[in-house]
Amino acid sequence: MDLERPLPHPITPEARPYWDGLREHKLMLPHCRQCGKSFLYPRVLCPFCHAADIDWVQASGRGRLYSFEIAHQTFNKAFKVKPPYVLAMIELEEGPRMMSNLVGIEADPKRIRCDMPVEVVYEKLTYEITLPLWKPAGGAR
Ligand SMILES: [Zn+2]
Repeated sequence: MDLERPLPHPITPEARPYWDGLREHKLMLPHCRQCGKSFLYPRVLCPFCHAADIDWVQASGRGRLYSFEIAHQTFNKAFKVKPPYVLAMIELEEGPRMMSNLVGIEADPKRIRCDMPVEVVYEKLTYEITLPLWKPAGGAR
């Protein structure tokens, strides 16, 4: 099988609900029951207050483009998406930020602006792995 993007491996036990959620097209976020904050990436202790009292909440799937970079070359050979593509730091409505790709828009810095509203799309790689990518909110894929 020829995959377009490298697989994130291994899936750690604390990240399992995250990957299970993506497979069902849900963006799940670890959420601290002590301080009430959501965070990424999944880990055993809350990065804000270090509590181990973690549950999971479903994110809205909306956010904004925090920063981006147009990649004209692919440095990771496992990554087969044709350049140029958009590397994006997305800030979720719930607060956490994630590194991803912005899709559904030309990789043209004149068309992409920071703070633009984005929404999640799900890209299935394998039976186990679905990745969250982002597209301009309201636009076509
Ligand atoms: Zn906390």
